[in-house]
Amino acid sequence: MIGAGIVGVTTAYELAADGHAVTVFERRNTVAAETSFANAGVIAPGYVTPWAAPGMPWKVMSQVFGRHAAVRFAGLPSLAQCRWMWRWWRACRPAVYRRNRSAMQTLAQYSRQRLSGLAQGLRLDFEQAQGCLVLLRSDRALAGAQAGLKLLQELGVEHALVTPDRCRALEPGLNPQTELAGAIHLPHDGVGNCRQFAHLLRAEAQRLGAQFRFDHDVQTVLPGNAPGLQWRLRDRAGQAAFDAVVVCAGVQANAVLQGCGLKLPLTPVYGYSLTAPLRHHEAAAVGPHSALMDEKFKVALTRLGQRVRVAGSAELGGHPDRLNAAAVATLYKVLNDWFPGAAQLRDVQVWKGARPMLPDGPPVLGASGATGVWLNLGHGSSGWALSCGSARVLADQIGGRSPGIDLAGLGIARLRG
Ligand SMILES: Cc1cc2nc3c(=O)[nH]c(=O)nc-3n(C[C@H](O)[C@H](O)[C@H](O)COP(=O)(O)OP(=O)(O)OC[C@H]3O[C@@H](n4cnc5c(N)ncnc54)[C@H](O)[C@@H]3O)c2cc1C
Repeated sequence: MIGAGIVGVTTAYELAADGHAVTVFERRNTVAAETSFANAGVIAPGYVTPWAAPGMPWKVMSQVFGRHAAVRFAGLPSLAQCRWMWRWWRACRPAVYRRNRSAMQTLAQYSRQRLSGLAQGLRLDFEQAQGCLVLLRSDRALAGAQAGLKLLQELGVEHALVTPDRCRALEPGLNPQTELAGAIHLPHDGVGNCRQFAHLLRAEAQRLGAQFRFDHDVQTVLPGNAPGLQWRLRDRAGQAAFDAVVVCAGVQANAVLQGCGLKLPLTPVYGYSLTAPLRHHEAAAVGPHSALMDEKFKVALTRLGQRVRVAGSAELGGHPDRLNAAAVATLYKVLNDWFPGAAQLRDVQVWKGARPMLPDGPPVLGASGATGVWLNLGHGSSGWALSCGSARVLADQIGGRSPGIDLAGLGIARLRG
């Protein structure tokens, strides 16, 4: 296997649990050191939907130059990004959107079940908190939320439209000075620390015999040269042969897939998070209790143990190490709007991560087309919420069993051409 982010770790666990001999190659020195490091931690299946949606191109263009724009372009797009955007734009057509949304929702619901099964069965504690509020600042936002409410209804996701008073009863720390017209309450959704979960599950996978080889940067996947060992993984230290390879390399997957003649329309869409210790975290009225999403700024605020995390922004182009000051400022603004003075900002951790985005939305799961090479990647903005289900599904496919959900729209075939 290549990659030990949340997707790689959950996959390693499921494969080891099925009795496979698993070796994971990871170029960093531990698990969840890249995009799975400091994401918002939200697990809200009802809100796992494609970013390629009807009306989105107009929405993006109308606010891209705003001070607190949710989407930003870092410089002029490259040719590859233009191609990606063209495919994204095509996937915004209503029928394509509906198909992708349905595939993602099915996987997200299944994934939450699998996550809670693992958490209970293995007694994992990863700073979970239950409940999610989608904050609607104005009456206009409230009116605009009707389509989303209808969708939640159709999907059978338990939810309620709640008044500002009810929001403050659920989240007593919310700043009464910030305009709030209401919120969508999702009582069964919530938050959990993705990185912490990855570390815990890695230990469980190791207990089942999985091996993790850190500081191993796989350069390419090459055809094997021994009977039964179809593929070789080559890194600087040498090469090793395997009967199958599972690629969970997130945003860098194309570099390793080249050797088996594959290229996916994958692009990094950067986001940012701030994490800070809560002041007086034992007091009920300090900081969030669980997950909140500010609908206007597309920013999530979450409680992780004794810390608050604020995450958002979508930046196309750009560089992993170059911070966009305006994007970070938006996160501070949203934190200050809702929970002023709650966090110790002297000790804040600022993080930038790259969402591994396919243009249409769903990840790609299953056989790659090259015999013995399997894919579990492209989870975009919802990799944590989708990871446990994706891993289980892939392990079932590799084991020749029928997966627990319909996999229509999740395979590689849709991305060809
Ligand atoms: C700001 C932000 C907020 C987010 N919030 C949420 C959220 O609230 N809920 C949610 O569900 N999702 C969220 N996400 C998305 C989520 O974080 C990602 O979808 C998920 O982390 C992707 O996991 P991954 O394992 O595919 O990728 P990664 O975590 O990046 O793992 C890939 C691994 O592969 C390794 N690798 C790559 N190439 C090689 C190689 N050649 N050899 C060896 N190793 C290699 C990398 O080092 C890396 O460790 C957010 C993302 C961002 C940026």
